Amino acid sequence: MRSFDPQVILRPELGELKAYAPSTGSYELRLDANEAPAVLSPAAKKRLGEVAAKTAWHQYPDAGQKDLRKAIAKHLGVKSAQILAGVGSDELITLLLTVATRLKAKAPAPTLLTTTPTFVMYRLSARIRGQRVMEVPLDADWDLDEEGMLRAIEMAAPNVIFIASPNNPTGTMVTRSRLERVIEAASGSLVVVDEAYIDYADGNHLDLLDRYENVAILRTLSKVGFAALRVGWIVASPNLIVELDKARLPYNLPTVSQTLATLVLTELTDEMKSTCVLVRQERARLTTALGNLRGVAVVPSQANFLWLKLEGSAGDVFGRLGKLGVLVRSFHGRGGRLEQYLRVTIGTREQNDRFLEALRESL
Ligand SMILES: *Cc1c(COP(=O)(O)O)cnc(C)c1O
Repeated sequence: MRSFDPQVILRPELGELKAYAPSTGSYELRLDANEAPAVLSPAAKKRLGEVAAKTAWHQYPDAGQKDLRKAIAKHLGVKSAQILAGVGSDELITLLLTVATRLKAKAPAPTLLTTTPTFVMYRLSARIRGQRVMEVPLDADWDLDEEGMLRAIEMAAPNVIFIASPNNPTGTMVTRSRLERVIEAASGSLVVVDEAYIDYADGNHLDLLDRYENVAILRTLSKVGFAALRVGWIVASPNLIVELDKARLPYNLPTVSQTLATLVLTELTDEMKSTCVLVRQERARLTTALGNLRGVAVVPSQANFLWLKLEGSAGDVFGRLGKLGVLVRSFHGRGGRLEQYLRVTIGTREQNDRFLEALRESL
């Protein structure tokens, strides 16, 4: 057989990347992926089944995502023309980074600006496309470093700026005035505010869209109980949506994802709300309980997970938790100030008690 080394055709950036691999292995309790707990009511499951059963299996999905866009728009109080839905918000991140790549005078390559630590997909998606990635460290309170961001905007002329609020993995919201000054300084960039966890937070940044055309908001159903559907969306100016739509794969969202997400947003919003209420109650309870443990410091969270600082390296505790059947996310491998941090998804009361017990044993 003739040999062929794929490297001769592949972009060199792939050499620095690894495939996204969620932890495998069997754990009794998985609190590593920021999914909502499995608390969907039997009645809601029945409705989802009924609607799924009506699918026209032989037909392509609605390429225009009409009903879904309408349902999202109504849910948020914006216009359908401001919405584009994707296979998770991940697809929209990728779509943005595919098209927002016009080379700027000051930049050697299209540039993405974001914070660190933050959601890793921004960096990954940009590097796969050969873009330059600039990361400004969050400050000591895991808030936006306004000066650092302004300097980076001036120096690097980014095409796109990603800011997650609440941020993953820190659970913190950015201070609104800092965010606005960044948006104002970035008049030649699109500022994407990723609100994947906004249903767990106090307040949101949707109103920025009324004041700044260079802002887009990302949302998703993944963290509020419907990760299986893979539905996320971007809210932006109709001008930008029209352009993004040109690069979107026409049948990106399967029919079932469209119809079931539409159902969720029209009939099952109370289900989502009660999931959020439960998680927020548990977040308060868990924050207090963990705060009482010696050797653990909890960062106040606006999301459905907690960002925990341990006394030593998080790796040891992570390993012991794993042996007890509890999987969380450890950042010890990232080194620096992340060395001591674990991220733990908030589960049901029983799951959280189980985690607390395991953590006490692991410290
Ligand atoms: C989980 C997460 C997403 C991913 O959302 P999908 O809709 O599942 O693709 C986006 N942004 C942040 C900050 C996240 O943590």
